[in-house]
Amino acid sequence: MVSENRNKPDTRNHPLISIICPCHNEQEVLHTFTDKIFSIISKTSYSFELLFVNDGSNDNTLKVLNELAEKHTCIRVINLSRNFGKEAALTAGLDRAKGDAVIPIDADLQDPPELILDFLREWEKGFDVVVAKRVDRSSDTLAKKITASLFYKFHNSIADVEIPDNVGDFRLISRRVVQAIQLLPENQRFMKGIFSWVGFSTSVVEYTRQARAAGESSFNGWRLWNFALEGITSFSTAPLRVWLYLGVFCSSIAFIYGSIIILKTLMLGIDLPGYASLLTIVLFFGGVQLIGLGVMGEYIGRLYMESKRRPVYIIEHDSHENTQDK
Ligand code: UDP
Ligand code: MG
Repeated sequence: MVSENRNKPDTRNHPLISIICPCHNEQEVLHTFTDKIFSIISKTSYSFELLFVNDGSNDNTLKVLNELAEKHTCIRVINLSRNFGKEAALTAGLDRAKGDAVIPIDADLQDPPELILDFLREWEKGFDVVVAKRVDRSSDTLAKKITASLFYKFHNSIADVEIPDNVGDFRLISRRVVQAIQLLPENQRFMKGIFSWVGFSTSVVEYTRQARAAGESSFNGWRLWNFALEGITSFSTAPLRVWLYLGVFCSSIAFIYGSIIILKTLMLGIDLPGYASLLTIVLFFGGVQLIGLGVMGEYIGRLYMESKRRPVYIIEHDSHENTQDK
């Protein structure tokens, strides 16, 4: 007989929870972050591992992490060989985490650790995924609020899988969701999309996002733009398809306009063609064609990078193992 609650974790055996924290230049906040996490996990009966992935920091992040790992056996430090980006760091953490449930969290305390208790409560109810949804973006700049909302609207209107609005990487995922994510072989990893793509029963916990506790955001405007492009091109081919329809539309207009000119010439004789309008039309279509080529180029570039089959990240050192790379 299949039990109705077969997905529920067996709390009697104290399942292991992995907290994954990608770090890029976070030296100032790590002690506060770790203290906060310890105070939260002491309120539960679970076993925890705290897995820090140092993503090519050029400050003292690695040194601080190694000191913390020496003090606490539940802290594991994975040092990547250079900066691979947050998505890759998160993937490295997911691949190495041993927990029955895994919680990715940012180091800067923008993801409130108290929510971990709510996550665990929902997980105990049998949900495979528990996401944290921001109800208030007041800590973000106006530009970030507008661009983020535009991105979600545009992405969700063209992509096959919707990414829920205002939901980041901070969430709890069960072991079987981690296994599902590991089945996705792509090396351009837009984690928000990947998390949504795998599906599973999801519960939502709401929270207010605070400003960074210390340090600076690693995501400037240009990096966010590229991140958005990555998200759209990874989960939709609509930007490629739109050129087909635009082409059909323009050809039809050109055919109708051509027919009108022929009829006019037959009935009224030869007219003097307008140089200015001709030039405008040539330039307009030149521009439209270049944009189309650019969009195609974007996809071809991604195909090219994907076809190399390079690993997503290289591990330089793992404090719990003596391995060299993935
Ligand atoms: N991060 C990372 N690699 C990077 C950039 C960022 O591991 O190349 C980590 C960073 O240390 C933090 C998390 O990703 O724990 C979120 O980054 P950040 O706070 O800079 O982004 P924001 O909150 O401004 O979107
Ligand atoms: Mg942040």
